[in-house]
Amino acid sequence: MQLDALIKKAPLVAPMSQYEEVFWGNPDYGQEKELPFGIADIEDAEARLARFAPYIRKAFPETEAAGGIIESPLKELPAMGQAMEIEGRLFLKCDSHLPVSGSIKARGGIYEILKLAETIAMKHQMLDAGDDYAKLAEKPFRELFSTYSVAVGSTGNLGLSIGIISAKLGFQVTVHMSADARRWKKDLLREKGVTVVEYPDDYQKAVAEGRDAAAADPTCHFVDDENSRDLFLGYSVAGKRLREQLAQQDILVDERHPLFIYLPCGVGGAPGGVTFGLKTVLGPHVHCIFAEPTHAPCMTLGMMTGLHDKISVQDIGLDGKTEADGLAVGRPSKLVGTVMESLLQGCYTIQDHKLYEYLRLLADTEGIYIEPSACAGFEGPKHMVCSEECQATHIVWATGGAMVPEAEMKQYCHRD
Ligand SMILES: *Cc1c(COP(=O)(O)O)cnc(C)c1O
Repeated sequence: MQLDALIKKAPLVAPMSQYEEVFWGNPDYGQEKELPFGIADIEDAEARLARFAPYIRKAFPETEAAGGIIESPLKELPAMGQAMEIEGRLFLKCDSHLPVSGSIKARGGIYEILKLAETIAMKHQMLDAGDDYAKLAEKPFRELFSTYSVAVGSTGNLGLSIGIISAKLGFQVTVHMSADARRWKKDLLREKGVTVVEYPDDYQKAVAEGRDAAAADPTCHFVDDENSRDLFLGYSVAGKRLREQLAQQDILVDERHPLFIYLPCGVGGAPGGVTFGLKTVLGPHVHCIFAEPTHAPCMTLGMMTGLHDKISVQDIGLDGKTEADGLAVGRPSKLVGTVMESLLQGCYTIQDHKLYEYLRLLADTEGIYIEPSACAGFEGPKHMVCSEECQATHIVWATGGAMVPEAEMKQYCHRD
C-alpha cells in the first residue's frame, strides 16, 4: 500500500513516519473476541514449570531459595515516582533480575526448552509426569539430549535464555544473531559452549536464516520468536504470579483502583504473553500498554493498520535502528497482534535518548540498574491520566538488565 493511502486509513502513520512519538488507543479494546488460548493453557504451563522446579533448583543453585521457581520481585519505586510526579503508586516488575538469564526471556525461552526436553524424554520412556524431574540433570539425560539440537534467531536476550538452558540440559545449540546484538552477549554464549552465527543484516534476517538451517534437520528444534505458542504461554504464567504478588502487597485491582502495566515490545511475544496472562486472570481493570522505540514501532504499526506481519517499519520509511536492542524489530508477530486486538489498551512510542534519561533517574533515585530497552515503560504513566476518584497503580515492566557487564552499564549511565 502507498504511504498516502495508509495515512488515510491510519492517520498516526504520518507522525510515525517522521520518527515522532505517538500514542495509539486501541478502538477494539475490551470487545468480545474468541482467543486461540485460554486459562487451561496457562495452568498447563504453570504445572509444567512446577514439575521442573526440582531440576531448575539443582541446575541453577541461585534459584534454591525460591524452590526452583524462576520469578522476580515486584518493587515499589517511591523516590522515582516522586521524581516523575506520578499520581498513584509506581512499581517495577523486576524481570530485569530474573534468575538464570536476567531478562523476561527467562520466562518464555526457558519454558519452551523445558517442554521440549520433557517431550523428548517422555518419548524415550525415560520420564513420567510423576517423577522427580531433578533426574534430568543426570548423565543419561544429557546424553539423550546431546543427540538433538536447538536453534534460535535473536537480537540478544532470547539467545541468552535459550542458549543457557539448552546447553545446561545437554542440547547442541546454535544462536543466530544479528550484527547489532551486543558483543558481550555473543561472548557469554560462546563461553557456555553455544555456537553463535552472526549476520550483517537485521534480526528478521537472522531468524529466517536460523529457520531455514533448522528445517533441513529433523532432530533440530527451532524456537520461532515470531510464531511460537510455547514461548507465548511461558510468558503468560507471569499473570498468575503477579496476581499473587499484588495480593501479598495488598494492591487492589477494581473499577476505582485500575492497574496499568507498561511493557516494552519487540516482536510481541513477551509483552503479548504477559498481557494475555494478566487479562485472563485479573479481568477488565488491568490495562496493558506496549512501549516501542520511535525507530522500530512494529506492533503499533501492525495493529493500527490491521496489517500485522504484512507491514514493516521500513515500509513507512523508518530505519528500524535503535539503541534498545531487544526492541529493534521491524515486523511484528501476527499471532500476538491478532490475540492483542481485544486485550491491549494501546501502544506508544518513545525516543531513544529518553531511555537513557529514565535509566539514570532509576539508578539515582532507587539504585536499580536495568538496560535501555527495559526503560521504555517509564513513559507510560504520562499517557494514562485517571479521574479524581480513581487511585491508579502503575507497573513498569523491567524486561532486562542484570546480565549487562558493569563497564557497559557505566557507559549507559554516563552517555548523553
Ligand atoms: C525481548 C525483549 C523485549 C520484548 O520482547 P518481544 O517478545 O520481542 O516483544 C523487551 N525488552 C527486552 C530487554 C527484551 O530482551
